[in-house]
Amino acid sequence: MTTAVWFRKNLRVHDNAALTQACDAESVLPLYCLDPAWATPSIVGPNRCRFLLESLEDLDATLRTRYGSKLHVVVGDPSETITKLIRDGTITKVVFEEEIAEPRELELEKRVVEAHPDEAQAVPSTHLLYDADAALAKGAPPTKMPGMVTLAGKLGAPAKPLMAPSTLPPRPDVTSPPLPSLESLGYSPITTKAAYGVQGGESTGLQRLQEQMKRENGKWARAFEKPKTTSASFEGEPPTTLLSPYVAFGCVSVRTFHQALKETYAKGPHAQPPTSLLGQLYFREMSYLLGRKHGAPFAEQPSVVCKDIDWDTDESAEKRFQAWERGKTGYPLIDAAMRQLREQGWLHHLARHAVSCFLTRGDFYCHWTRGRDVFDRDLLDADWAINNFNWLGLAGVAPWSPPFFRVYNPFNVGSSSLNVRDAEGKYVDRFVPELSKLPPRHKYAPWLAPKSDLSKAGVKLGETYPRPIVDHKAQSKANIERFKQAQRAAKEASTSKKRKGPPVPAKAKKSK
Ligand SMILES: Cc1cc2nc3c(=O)[nH]c(=O)nc-3n(C[C@H](O)[C@H](O)[C@H](O)COP(=O)(O)OP(=O)(O)OC[C@H]3O[C@@H](n4cnc5c(N)ncnc54)[C@H](O)[C@@H]3O)c2cc1C
Repeated sequence: MTTAVWFRKNLRVHDNAALTQACDAESVLPLYCLDPAWATPSIVGPNRCRFLLESLEDLDATLRTRYGSKLHVVVGDPSETITKLIRDGTITKVVFEEEIAEPRELELEKRVVEAHPDEAQAVPSTHLLYDADAALAKGAPPTKMPGMVTLAGKLGAPAKPLMAPSTLPPRPDVTSPPLPSLESLGYSPITTKAAYGVQGGESTGLQRLQEQMKRENGKWARAFEKPKTTSASFEGEPPTTLLSPYVAFGCVSVRTFHQALKETYAKGPHAQPPTSLLGQLYFREMSYLLGRKHGAPFAEQPSVVCKDIDWDTDESAEKRFQAWERGKTGYPLIDAAMRQLREQGWLHHLARHAVSCFLTRGDFYCHWTRGRDVFDRDLLDADWAINNFNWLGLAGVAPWSPPFFRVYNPFNVGSSSLNVRDAEGKYVDRFVPELSKLPPRHKYAPWLAPKSDLSKAGVKLGETYPRPIVDHKAQSKANIERFKQAQRAAKEASTSKKRKGPPVPAKAKKSK
């Protein structure tokens, strides 16, 4: 009688409810199903896929060294894989943690449970601080931080993370194929490192968590305030924890993160939500509660949490979108960030603000879902609920959006709340090297540089580097006006719909 522990967004042995549940089984097969229809370069970028493969390697190593077991990774449709393992008698049961919000994963587990009602056992997820349904039972999910703080107060302290099992039941005698590689999945080899050289896996993730909590003897984590951190960052010590990829793949449990933070906070005065580190974990919680509550429409426009804005979708918008995606907009801050994303799978939070505002309401008026999909592909920490939550916010369309008319200036970086703090223009040098010979004061706005400086630096605007695709000042003003009108039109349409009431059934109409 073998129980498979199906690892999903919990690539770890600590705080793993499925693994803990299977500890009483006669024999345990640790299983990961890698869907090749998902792990493909157009859906999951190479950096993100590499992080996943590193995490699987690390999990496999832990299972071998600590438990004398081994990870069984099958490349194939997950539900078909599980069916096959049950049918051929390799396993008699499969235990897994429930998905909270992502429609693709919810649909997958539904298929597994429907096909194997007697063998499949879903256990409550450890992917959030709180049980999502218990939180939603308290009322509508919060859309702003004060609501989240109140909800956390009502729910009390999050459950303690589960300990890693001390032993595991023996593994059945099943031959496992070698772990997949980028190449075996059809990716080209990557020659560059991920941001700050991070590597996937529970071991490195837990080590990173400890290091972040010990930075400056805990003072750094206690004093952490997100809006004060620097966006144009790519080297040295990251300005934020850089734990998100580990949390997204579940190499580090968010409850373990929270517990470590609580212990650090207990040692001295600390910042408060929304800006504090705890505030960041609460934003994550809010994203998931909203995602669970609204389901697939959370990722769509229009919806109850998304205004119906008339984004441009014509050929010229497509060209602007492509320039944005490739880092060729003519605005060095935006281009550096988009190239960093592609090369390193990473962007600081405020750089994410800069590029998402620029693509949507700020400058290009392209649909937010286009940018969302690029982030979903390329970010190491891509996460369905969090990515949608933040894109909805930055596009100006959600109840939690900042005022839509406050747009970021993409070149006047010295005084911006984007906290670029790059007087020497190092960020531009690193990711937009064609501008590196310009004097620092012109690096973020080369079109304002005197001709002599441009020619000395070998920059020919329109040839070696694009001219700005839009004039920020004029375009953002026009966009704000358009957004205002679209909002008004959507409001009027909804009021007139409400006034008319629900459509009268045909029969009732006749009888009148
Ligand atoms: C347009 C846009 C898209 C984003 N897409 C994602 C995404 O797909 N996945 C993702 O994890 N984050 C996303 N974020 C949120 C945020 O930028 C990252 O979580 C953060 O930059 C990760 O860095 P860190 O781990 O150093 O964060 P820290 O500041 O150290 O925060 C600690 C943890 O809190 C959580 N967190 C932090 N900020 C947020 C936030 N704004 N919303 C929800 N959770 C948060 C993360 O799990 C993070 O690891 C997005 C932000 C924007 C503006």
